[in-house]
Amino acid sequence: MGKTFLQHPGGARLYSCAKCDTVLTNKSQLISMRFTGATGRAFLFNKVVNITFSEVQDRVMLTGRHMVRDVSCKKCDAKLGWMYEFAVEESQRYKEGRVILERALVSEADATRKVLEEILNIGAAGRLDVMKELKMYAGFYTKTGSGRKNDKRVKQANARAQMKFKEARQKIQQAKLAEEARSKARK
Ligand SMILES: [Zn+2]
Repeated sequence: MGKTFLQHPGGARLYSCAKCDTVLTNKSQLISMRFTGATGRAFLFNKVVNITFSEVQDRVMLTGRHMVRDVSCKKCDAKLGWMYEFAVEESQRYKEGRVILERALVSEADATRKVLEEILNIGAAGRLDVMKELKMYAGFYTKTGSGRKNDKRVKQANARAQMKFKEARQKIQQAKLAEEARSKARK
């Protein structure tokens, strides 16, 4: 099999595959949290990326008959929910083309924290061991062990994290300015 190409939906609050952490969608795409799936609570999203679809299946639900496709993670193939292809009932047509992700099968996290974790983990292999000993909480690393050595590591990790946050914020700001300039040029 070739390389799997993954997209990034952007946004501040991200939903990812709980099994492999591939980003699937963000909060701005969330339509409703009042759905129920096989594992319990489920969310309806407008757009979801990095997923694969099964063959169309005919399913009778509480809200009537629907043609649906099961939805799986493009990277690890874990089942995540389903997509509504066609709804028989007129009142249910708004769901067509939209995707249900089951709450228990996805994880929710802030983008900045996720980006930061990626930067710190990919950047230098040596840092990984340090990170394993530390737990991240609200953008700050807190120690999981004790001792002066650990205190020092926490301090260093937090200093690095704050620097990366600053860099990330600057990048976002630059991207915003560039986008503004582009949209002005179009007018
Ligand atoms: Zn996955």
